[in-house]
Amino acid sequence: MNFKAFIFDLDGTIYLGERLIRGADEVVQKLRDGGGRVVFLSNKPLDTREAYAAKLARLGIPAAPEDVINSSFVATRYLLGRMPGARLHVIGEPPFLEELRRAGFATARTPEETDAVVIAFDRTLDYGKLHFAHLAVRRRGAVMIATNPDAFCPADDDELPDAGGTIALLEATTGRRVEVVVGKPSPIMTEAILNHVAVPASACLMVGDRVETDIRMGHDAGMGTALVLTGATTREQAGASDVRADYVLESVRDLLHKI
Ligand SMILES: [Mg+2]
Repeated sequence: MNFKAFIFDLDGTIYLGERLIRGADEVVQKLRDGGGRVVFLSNKPLDTREAYAAKLARLGIPAAPEDVINSSFVATRYLLGRMPGARLHVIGEPPFLEELRRAGFATARTPEETDAVVIAFDRTLDYGKLHFAHLAVRRRGAVMIATNPDAFCPADDDELPDAGGTIALLEATTGRRVEVVVGKPSPIMTEAILNHVAVPASACLMVGDRVETDIRMGHDAGMGTALVLTGATTREQAGASDVRADYVLESVRDLLHKI
């Protein structure tokens, strides 16, 4: 392996819930000692980059907020470029709402004044939020933008329904399609990474546990790819997929022997 930058997915790759995957800290340290750039990439819009950096540090991997790129950060940047000052209806959790508010976006008070419906992973989802979103799209023609396409999020001995399910529901009820999903495997995410690492895609290795997001994004961008089997994908599923990772590893720890 001869890469200059290493992009690690978080859930299912570096940690599961509050548990660090064994050896993840050693791998990151060894890469950094060798002069590699390390970036952490998450489709999770539940918290800010600061909070994910703090979690990594708590689990034994020192990280700065700039080392973390997540879908709420990329969604906020995308909305600033696409429709600055828009009135939003956000299906999301309080830290994401705060991030959007700080970027100058207002919360729509009625479906009729909503410019965009933003769909994110939301563990406080209820019927009222869905009803509002449905009416905003049907009555006002609000565009739908989503943070991430994941159907579920792996956690320690658990799985949580994710934004992919909410996207499917609202597309079914409104008869409209989501305009963009900014998280992996979107090229919008790739662009944010390449801006940050400042090396060509071919010098990057993308490491993740999901074929349809992590590996597809890395593959489409021209990065090297490594699939780990500690999260959402089994070896059988990896073999059956139409996108093949360059490396299939039992765990991120196995990178120690390859670098
Ligand atoms: Mg993952």
